[in-house]
Amino acid sequence: MSISENIDAIRERIARAEVRAGRSAGSVRLMAVSKFHPAEAVLEAVGSGQTLFGENRVQEADSKFPDIIAAHPGVELHLIGSLQRNKVAKIVGIASCIQSVDREELLAEISKQCASLERTIDVLFEYHTAEDSKSGYAEKDMLFRSLDLLESMPNVRCRGLMTMAPFTEDQLAVRSSFRQLVSLRDACMARYPSLDFSVLSMGMSADFEIAIEEGSTLVRVGTAIFGERQ
Ligand SMILES: *Cc1c(COP(=O)(O)O)cnc(C)c1O
Repeated sequence: MSISENIDAIRERIARAEVRAGRSAGSVRLMAVSKFHPAEAVLEAVGSGQTLFGENRVQEADSKFPDIIAAHPGVELHLIGSLQRNKVAKIVGIASCIQSVDREELLAEISKQCASLERTIDVLFEYHTAEDSKSGYAEKDMLFRSLDLLESMPNVRCRGLMTMAPFTEDQLAVRSSFRQLVSLRDACMARYPSLDFSVLSMGMSADFEIAIEEGSTLVRVGTAIFGERQ
């Protein structure tokens, strides 16, 4: 199947999962994760109406997206992979959102770089919910300490939370990972009523329908759109 046929098929499955979950049509956003796939593949997806893309690495994002965004101003890129402090200055010039904020020093650097560029950026806070993954805040209190800092960071706009479920066939384990993120979101909303936690970024090729049933508002789909990564 072509990339655009894959995108249509995923959109259809998203729509069916929304109905099954009793959620309103269009409540889930599709991100196409284009890591390890060339700019031509991204452009094919753009041609079929896809606007939101995700990349894991700053260098790869920088080699593909500035030109694509210049030619297609509706295209939006989010960084979804772990981010080193010395790459922050580069990525805040390209991405509209960093979904993988996982520590205080990274948040501080994003704030500093955005202030010097006089721009505002959206962020999601990545939370660790799966035993086999290393990324994300491992403890609620560490996350709360970062959220406490946002008051003094006018260039950083909190939009919600992100997680990766474990890579397993065990659907209960996957579901439980997503449920942890939902309950953390509820705790964050209660604790920080003035912050926006409307985005729950969870679900990938293998588990996005489960994620939608559990409340995801943004699914990050790579392989099921672009095929296996080289
Ligand atoms: C690669 C990646 C995805 C997409 O994974 P697929 O299984 O190919 O859909 C989603 N989220 C993150 C954080 C990733 O690194």
